[in-house]
Amino acid sequence: MEILGFIENSLIDWDGKISAVIFLGGCNFKCPYCQNYLIVKRDKALRRYQLLDLLEYLKNNRKFIDGVVISGGEPLIYPGIFDFIRTFKEEGFLVKLDTNGYFYFNLLSLIKENLLDYVAMDIKTSFKKYHKAVGRKIEISLIKDSIELLKEGRVDYEFRTTLVPKLVTKEDLLSIKEEISGAKRWVLQKFVNQNAKSKIYQRIEPYSKEEVERFLSLLKSDNKIKEIYLRGY
Ligand code: SF4
Repeated sequence: MEILGFIENSLIDWDGKISAVIFLGGCNFKCPYCQNYLIVKRDKALRRYQLLDLLEYLKNNRKFIDGVVISGGEPLIYPGIFDFIRTFKEEGFLVKLDTNGYFYFNLLSLIKENLLDYVAMDIKTSFKKYHKAVGRKIEISLIKDSIELLKEGRVDYEFRTTLVPKLVTKEDLLSIKEEISGAKRWVLQKFVNQNAKSKIYQRIEPYSKEEVERFLSLLKSDNKIKEIYLRGY
């Protein structure tokens, strides 16, 4: 378990909550627009944090912190993720998981064991373009299974899509909407090009607010998703 980043308190990583954010190194995907690629490749220059130090900080500051966000990278690559999350739950903290949704069976077990209070799952793009967005071949049925699992509503959740031009077009958004139809919440996030892994993506400008608002009103027109909103605009 490599802890390669820690934010002591954040107002933007869990809507409505003050959270501490933990970034675990490594990921099974290779998204070319990844903002956290130094964490993904476990860059040697990154500081390594110790779990006991983070726990001590959390315990000393529990009055100000509602919960812990476990992010990455992809936290579910670690078999030890169960004990890791249990550590925070046993101390009384709420836990949010950020995940790309590919480790369906780990997600299922975490939910069954009541170890999660909120899940934010990425939906990268339409299923037919998924391999482009994640930089490798994948078994799309695992993503579909995770979508259906979250839609059951055993844990509070959001699906989230980063609006990367070319990878996520109006047509892709319409396709995603059908795939997640009936979902509780879908968040459309602004793409930030500065820190993108690939130089090509560093040159791609994000959609303008006007374009994104047009997408939003189109997606909201038939109420197939209960709540859709923008983040970062
Ligand atoms: S899934 Fe997330 S952390 Fe992993 S490569 Fe893609 S954007 Fe980066």
